[in-house]
Amino acid sequence: MRRPDGLLNHNVLGEDKGPQDACGVFGVWAPGEEVAKLTFYGLYALQHRGTESAGIATSDGERILVYKDMGLVSQVFTEGDLATLKGNLAVGHCRYSTTGSSTWVNAQPTLRPTKYGTLALAHNGNLTNTGDLAELVQKLEATYTRGATTDTEIMTALLALQDSKNVEASALTVLPQLEGAFSLVFMDERTLYAARDRHGVRPLVLGKLETGWVVASESAALDIVGAAFVREIEPGELICIDANGVRSQHWADAQPKGCLFEYVYLARPDTTIAGSGIHKTRVAIGAQLAREHPAEADLVIPVPESGTPAAIGYAKESGIPYGMGLVKNSYVGRTFIQPSQTIRQLGIRLKLNPLREIIEGKRIVVVDDSIVRGNTQRAIVRMLREAGAREIHVRISSPPVKWPCYYGIDFASRAELIANGLDVQEIRRSIGADSLGYVSLEGLIAATEVSSEKLCSACFTGEYPIRIPEDLSEGKMRLEITEAHGH
Ligand code: SF4
Repeated sequence: MRRPDGLLNHNVLGEDKGPQDACGVFGVWAPGEEVAKLTFYGLYALQHRGTESAGIATSDGERILVYKDMGLVSQVFTEGDLATLKGNLAVGHCRYSTTGSSTWVNAQPTLRPTKYGTLALAHNGNLTNTGDLAELVQKLEATYTRGATTDTEIMTALLALQDSKNVEASALTVLPQLEGAFSLVFMDERTLYAARDRHGVRPLVLGKLETGWVVASESAALDIVGAAFVREIEPGELICIDANGVRSQHWADAQPKGCLFEYVYLARPDTTIAGSGIHKTRVAIGAQLAREHPAEADLVIPVPESGTPAAIGYAKESGIPYGMGLVKNSYVGRTFIQPSQTIRQLGIRLKLNPLREIIEGKRIVVVDDSIVRGNTQRAIVRMLREAGAREIHVRISSPPVKWPCYYGIDFASRAELIANGLDVQEIRRSIGADSLGYVSLEGLIAATEVSSEKLCSACFTGEYPIRIPEDLSEGKMRLEITEAHGH
């Protein structure tokens, strides 16, 4: 089950990976179906949310089996692996690490015996009180030794150590003690559970199969397994699914603060959040960008693929023709093959290649979703100039990212964020563009059609809706640091 080197797969694109999402989760309760295969395809649809590791747990009613490994969903599972994962219900996970490093032991679902059976759990988000929770676990189990170093491992231990009559009762005790962002799917031998934090930072939806039920991070994953969208799991809600159907309970009052960045970049364009299709929202953001930052130009091109809908909106609103100026190699990105020095030097070219015949001699508007460190945009501007662009006007479909995210997205540390130290003109100079424009926060929020009170926009404003760790230097390795200090 374990890849021999136990290592993270390599990011062949260089250092600037852009914002990284913090996982996709999927769960299915469907006796008689091949639940492992449904979960595989659900995770396949959620691959963009986490590419470091993947795992599936299944239960046949008596026993839970889990299989997980480092890599993409398609790298981790073979047909044979899936055939061994028999059962009536399953949970699955694809991971990008936000607490704990990217190693096999930290891959999910986590598994833990309890006094009433076994618990398997998958988490999207990031807890902000992991240190306090770790102390609680230590009190409940003095001999507790952590295998993994994730907030998910701590949460699983806390659930398993409750002196309750079943998992449902444990969840109702533990969920109110968790702070931060969490969209969870978990299971015991017979029941599938799903829960969302009181702010609903990360998405989580419920779908219906002919023979059962599905929960997933995004509605697009329901479409791909043939499930009909039923509704979003509400902030502060716990649902339990078994032979008696779906039971819902609210363990906290909802205080919605959905992640604004899901609309900009993270979610798939064919997903729907809060009733809005993400593609349509991104087109509207692009139109808003054109109104706020017009340009004299011959062609609008996207940075594929996340910049595509906003570029379409920009072109439509401005009347400037839309074209493909950069071709994306979708299948490069993560591989277990360590790139050679020659390949590494190609950097962004592995991922994007300019179409010289489209670009040469033209004034180009290039639309991207965000600027994190600026390295990607600098490389793109250089590449477009080399391909003969006369002018390059960079347009960004989010406001400047100035603050780190503590709720499940790994942008960079504050010091690494280019907009933290530089103003827009300085960033323009740094990336080498002829002009640079970011959409305004108000313009972005208007395009989502969600009221600003119901959204988190902390990475743009620094106003964090959920208390963040006092020691901001505590990063994703905080549990490893604690262990190294012998606590
Ligand atoms: S800080 Fe930014 S990325 Fe993080 S949850 Fe808030 S809006 Fe989303």
